[in-house]
Amino acid sequence: MEEKKMEKITSFAKRRGFVFASSEIYGGFAAVYDFGPYGAELAKNIREAWWKKMVQENDNIVGLDSSIFMHPKIWEASGHVSGFSDPLSECKECHSRARVDHLLEEAGVFADEKMSEEEINALLVENKEKLHCPKCNGNDFAPAKNFNLLVQSNLGNFTGDWDKKPTYLRGETCQGIYVNYKNVLDSTRVKVPFGIAQIGKAFRNEITARQFIFRKREFEQMEMQMFVHPDQAMEVYEEWRAKRWQYYLDLGLKEENLKWHEHENLVFYAKAAWDIEYRFPFGFKELEGVHARGNYDLTQHAKFSGKKLEYRDPATNEVFVPHVVETSVGVDRTFLAVLTEAYTEEDLGDGKERIVLRLPKKLAPIKAAIFPLLKNKPELVKKAREIFDELKLEFMCEFDDNGNVGKRYRRQDEIGTPYCVTIDFDSLEDKKVTVRDRDTMSQERVDIAEIGNYLKENLKQ
Ligand code: ATP
Repeated sequence: MEEKKMEKITSFAKRRGFVFASSEIYGGFAAVYDFGPYGAELAKNIREAWWKKMVQENDNIVGLDSSIFMHPKIWEASGHVSGFSDPLSECKECHSRARVDHLLEEAGVFADEKMSEEEINALLVENKEKLHCPKCNGNDFAPAKNFNLLVQSNLGNFTGDWDKKPTYLRGETCQGIYVNYKNVLDSTRVKVPFGIAQIGKAFRNEITARQFIFRKREFEQMEMQMFVHPDQAMEVYEEWRAKRWQYYLDLGLKEENLKWHEHENLVFYAKAAWDIEYRFPFGFKELEGVHARGNYDLTQHAKFSGKKLEYRDPATNEVFVPHVVETSVGVDRTFLAVLTEAYTEEDLGDGKERIVLRLPKKLAPIKAAIFPLLKNKPELVKKAREIFDELKLEFMCEFDDNGNVGKRYRRQDEIGTPYCVTIDFDSLEDKKVTVRDRDTMSQERVDIAEIGNYLKENLKQ
């Protein structure tokens, strides 16, 4: 049943222009996807909601837009070159590749991120009977090898001693934040505790290409790093855990579909690590990580760059390396979570049903659809165009004169448009239009002169 929901959402997302498989006419390109016209709007609204919550509403958080390419030394300092890997194995039966930690997880066995190849392989052998290849159901797997997830490029690297080293497409956006910490400190008026937030693409050679846009090889992260006094780190951490939980409720995700997952074994430098998981159609999986990272990141970059990355408190003159509290989530995983939550097949009685995307209004790709009742009545079309041309300056609107109004409502319900505005013959006389609500399907007459204000007020909710 739940698997079926995933299939439904995947085909719906394609049919209604939300998500397309990349390079589809060439047979696709595994684990890479494109956002279609409505998907691009939804993704933009997700970014905007995050940015507003993090940057606009917090006067001690500033934004950043760092580059995808960075000095290769950064990825050595961060530990990605030596340690950013997943254990990869191949099914001896069908030769498909799989992540061994995931195979074990499916079998109810927990593999720790820090385990060596030998330790992982011991688990693989020990639990052989419980394993299932996701493709052919076999259980005979080749020994695991650690597979580095960084995506290499052939961009010319002209950085002195490092020019023989490969350049990478960034594997996470937060390294751009750490290496700009000093620039932000020196160029703005922020004081510890302060945060830097950034949205941008990240690239990983993910081993398995399943679960639609949940795990992409090119994806987008929204990350915020708070720089805090070591003594305050845990307090700030708890604050952010609460804030991020509330953020998802405000995004319309039901509390019963969210849960906290504590990392069982912390990496050596971390002080605390919890993930917010969402009940995707394939089960509870990570949506966002909220981590207390100690001073590891700044200390590593200070060591590798030879630059001081300390902070001097202007009030007390105390000098320290700030600790980092991080919140990290993907645009794509948020997209899949809100789509899963919003997608509803509704029984309207009398054998009728509709698909309605119950998105929070702030995320809806189109805020209002404007319809002339009939396509072949120039006076209605003219008036509807006039209203559309006015409203589109303020809201993302769509003009639709195709088919009967009932069909047009259904089309808009499917893409989650909160309001449909119909111009009929009475409109020409009484200067009112019919506004129909996506969720209740109720209709009311609103003065044409007031329609902009009406939408503004109601879209706030
Ligand atoms: P996973 O265990 O699922 O591979 P991770 O723990 O490696 O994820 P992080 O490195 O903590 O993920 O990345 C932070 C966030 O970025 C994740 O919570 C997720 O929302 C998003 N993210 C990470 N990898 C991907 C991916 N391949 N595709 C889409 N989003 C991703």
